[in-house]
Amino acid sequence: MPTTGLRGPYKLDNNTIDKVVTKKSAGAYALGHTRKEKEVTTFIVEYVGRADKDVNDRLKKWVGKGYSHFKFEYYGSPKAAFEKECNLYHDWKNLDNKQHPDRSKDKDWQCPRCDAFKEKK
Ligand SMILES: [Zn+2]
Repeated sequence: MPTTGLRGPYKLDNNTIDKVVTKKSAGAYALGHTRKEKEVTTFIVEYVGRADKDVNDRLKKWVGKGYSHFKFEYYGSPKAAFEKECNLYHDWKNLDNKQHPDRSKDKDWQCPRCDAFKEKK
């Protein structure tokens, strides 16, 4: 299995989010649940996403939506967060994401992994 390169997993609730996501920053995240087998805890990724401005605020919108844990990392720019989101999207199969991650409005970012945003001529 690939690794996410994100920190966590942490419990997906408001208190934990405030405790561990203390910077107001762009970021990428993964939602899912944990499975414990022989003292080894594995994080099962079920959904990947990003926040262009505030990953703390974005994660809180997911509380109570069926995911028990999250992982995240800060990124210095929305573009970097987008590229991480794309990499996660392409690394992990069977995600709940129905569609390829979208760009922010008015940006010409390209997916580092596929031609999803290449102009069709
Ligand atoms: Zn792609």
